[in-house]
This record gives sequence, C-alpha cells and structure tokens, in this order.
Amino acid sequence: MRVKVLGSAAGGGFPQWNCACSQCRRLREGSFSGLPRTQTQLAWNGAPGKWTLLNASPDLRAQIEATPELWPRGGERHSPIRDVILTGAEVDQTLGLLLLREFHAFCVHATASVRRLLTEDNSLFGVLARFAGQVCWNDIPLEGSFSTAGARLEALSLAGSFPGFVRSERLAESNPAEAVIGLVVSPETGSGSLAFLPGTAYASDFLLERLEASDTVLFDGTFWSDDEPLHIPGVTRTARQMGHLPVSGPGGTLERLAALRRPRKIFIHINNTNPMLDQESAAHRMVRESGWEVAWDGMEITL
Ligand SMILES: [Zn+2]
Repeated sequence: MRVKVLGSAAGGGFPQWNCACSQCRRLREGSFSGLPRTQTQLAWNGAPGKWTLLNASPDLRAQIEATPELWPRGGERHSPIRDVILTGAEVDQTLGLLLLREFHAFCVHATASVRRLLTEDNSLFGVLARFAGQVCWNDIPLEGSFSTAGARLEALSLAGSFPGFVRSERLAESNPAEAVIGLVVSPETGSGSLAFLPGTAYASDFLLERLEASDTVLFDGTFWSDDEPLHIPGVTRTARQMGHLPVSGPGGTLERLAALRRPRKIFIHINNTNPMLDQESAAHRMVRESGWEVAWDGMEITL
C-alpha cells in the first residue's frame, strides 16, 4: 500500500497568505532553507485504481493536480478517489470536500457527531447532495475497526474539542469523544500499519502503546514550543490549549515519544512559525538527531 503525503503544513500552509513572520517572509524572498508546504493531506491506494483521502484540505484541488495517480482517466468524467475519511470538523479538514462537488460519487467516513454538524447545520454541504447517491456518509465507530477499499482502519479518540463555529445546541448533543480522532491504517492483506495523529494535546500511556505497535507514526508537529502561538497576533492560547502537544520542552513530543523503538517517526501538520521547518536551525537538527523526520509535500510511505 502506498501512502502519499500531499500536504504537510498546519492550517494556513507555509507560507500563510497573511503572515509576515520571519520564516514566511524569508520563504517568499527565496532566502529560506526549507520547502513551502500545503495544508496537511494524505492519500493512499488500498486497491488498484482506488484511492482514499485522509481529510479534505482547503488545498485539495492543487494537491490532486500535483499527484498524477489522482488524475481522471479515460475520455470522460472519472476519479480514482473513492473514499474520504475525516478526523474532525475543522475547516482545515473539511473545506476540500466542497471542492469535490462536480458530480462524482464517493463516500465520506466521519464520526456521527462530525457528520451531523456538517450535513445538518451547514447548507453549503448541500453541494454534495445534488443527486441521489452522490455522497454516502458512513459513521466511524470509536470501538472496533472499519474499512475502505483495501484498508482496515481503527479510530483513536483524542482529547480534542469541536471547532469554535459549532452552535451551543449542537455542542450539547454531540459526543466529545467524537470531536477529534486519530487513525491507525493497515492494508487489508499483508502487514504494516501507520498511525496518523496530526492534532493531539496529550500522549497517554495507552496511546504510546498503540504507537509502539505501529510501523510508521505521523505525529502532531504543529508547534515547537508551548508558548509559540502566543507570539502570533490574535492568538491567546498555548499550543496545549489549542490541542497540540509541543515538539520540545518538558513533556513535549521529543521527550514523551523518545522511548518508541519500533516505528518510523515523522512530524506532520507543521505550523509556519515552527523553527524546525528551517533546515539550518538548531530545532531541525535536534529533531533529526532524535530520530525523527519532518514530512514534506510529495513524501511517500510504503506499508
Ligand atoms: Zn509565518
């Protein structure tokens, strides 16, 4: 099974359209030692000609065009995209669904709470119900496994919260355990597994056990330090308060996941302010020397 990283940045991408931080500025000016990145997006082919998208980023159209495997074939309307799995309801994870509205039938897999708030509270998602059978919605169970073409998946409930745009009445009737999930993906036949956790504020002992049993871990690389977002104009919460375990510092990811021996460890969902994006930085060096990789757009992982 081939897993492609179509996008590796946090929300906003790198550079972010309205950000003039030192990193975004240097990247635009051509003096930055590192790559531009689109917003986090994964895709895999579980079966010949059948691709599954993991989340639907706001950059999805450009990411599909940058990936020949996802292009339509034959002389008519076609797409190898069969399934889209959502790990939450944030704009970064769902906006791309609206870009798939051109009369292509596919299935969306989301927790029941995420499905309800997208399909019942937001009329914009009606563009995915223009004809019978356009989009089928499947509820992701928090216990046990589910499958898409050629892949077996298991949800890991993470201690996240629903997006700020969700109405209070909807919040009251939604299951907090269904707000943000991570996923463990394995090919239906054969071995190998990949854990995807782009947003988690906490790494429990249970979670560490699950990660140690995986072959590859794609983990939250949003912020380098807990106070990093406080330097972003308008942001008043720390990394942890925003649902992201910082990479460095006491109890941070490098320390907390240092004991993992089995999996290949890769940071994904990297914010434009994170110094590890700069390949000449001490942060980047520390990450590499700790045995971690930093995901990039176009990276491919074989399971
Ligand atoms: Zn920036």
